[in-house]
Amino acid sequence: MNEEVYHCIRCGFCTSKCVTLPEFRVESAGPRGRMLLLRGLAEGLLELNENVARRIFQCTTCDSCSLSCPAGLKLSGIFEKFREDLFERGLLPENLRKIAENVRKYGNPYGEISKAVEVRRGDVCLFIGCTTRFRREETLKRALEISEIFGWSLIEEVCCGSPVKKIGDLTLFTELMKKNYERLREFSKVVVLCAGCYRALSEDYRKFGINLNVSHITQELLGKFHEAEIERATYHDPCHLGRAFSFYEPPRELLKKSGVELVEMKRNRENSRCCGGGGGFRALHPEISRRIAMKRVEEASRVSEVLLTSCPFCHINLRDVSDEFGIRVYDVIDVLRM
Ligand code: SF4
Ligand code: SF4
Repeated sequence: MNEEVYHCIRCGFCTSKCVTLPEFRVESAGPRGRMLLLRGLAEGLLELNENVARRIFQCTTCDSCSLSCPAGLKLSGIFEKFREDLFERGLLPENLRKIAENVRKYGNPYGEISKAVEVRRGDVCLFIGCTTRFRREETLKRALEISEIFGWSLIEEVCCGSPVKKIGDLTLFTELMKKNYERLREFSKVVVLCAGCYRALSEDYRKFGINLNVSHITQELLGKFHEAEIERATYHDPCHLGRAFSFYEPPRELLKKSGVELVEMKRNRENSRCCGGGGGFRALHPEISRRIAMKRVEEASRVSEVLLTSCPFCHINLRDVSDEFGIRVYDVIDVLRM
């Protein structure tokens, strides 16, 4: 057990921004409670069983909690690390087991037959990602158009590994990483569309000694001429792009340069509220994930009729509940035209 569990002073400052705590309404479904569980296990006061494991998996890994921690703990990282132990001990909840099975069998978490094809153009590669490929038809179409315009190559990619790393399956993660690296190593840059892909291909692969030059598509499109099809919008920062990398300005600058009047939600940039989809949470608790998404969409609907984001996974989670608030949800690239 990591000794960081002893650094928690139980102040509870981390609890105020947690998205799961108010839904379950028990201390053990929030960051301080999870730290107490880990400490109880470390001191032999608790038995590690499915109930304890479930609490550790009931976290979106949004990392809002770490912002307020006076001990400087990176809480989502601590919980993610512990999930590796839980996976090894066979304590993965059933819904999450299915994700790993799909990735192992089909190369993507959705259990879809892959239609990825290799296209050789320049030495920049567009890594499309599973959620855009299988769940975001419009964004996929737009991304493929952009790749043609800029001469970006495509590879026969497999899942970046983000979903299986989040549930603790490191063996499968490293297999996927090696497969992708074999195909990506020759490119000078890899452009991604998804916050999860961004984090996996850059930060996570680097921990295993693989250094790719990774860029988000909103960075790549900055400085190139665009026009937007919308006039006014608000922007949702994906946790694994925003808080994880302080990646806040490129999508905003791109939209402003394209003529969009951008209005901010009360919670923006590092204080952005999680969409409720990440860390395996949408698969584990679809209904609660919806409720968390509703809170974010409701916040957006107070300032705009259009909500934009730059991650397909946030997109589908927010889009699923948007009709109830009369707001339209798009990816940033969905609304740009050359
Ligand atoms: S990472 Fe997010 S969901 Fe998990 S404990 Fe922290 S604030 Fe709560
Ligand atoms: S804010 Fe940090 S120190 Fe305080 S209870 Fe939360 S994890 Fe522990």
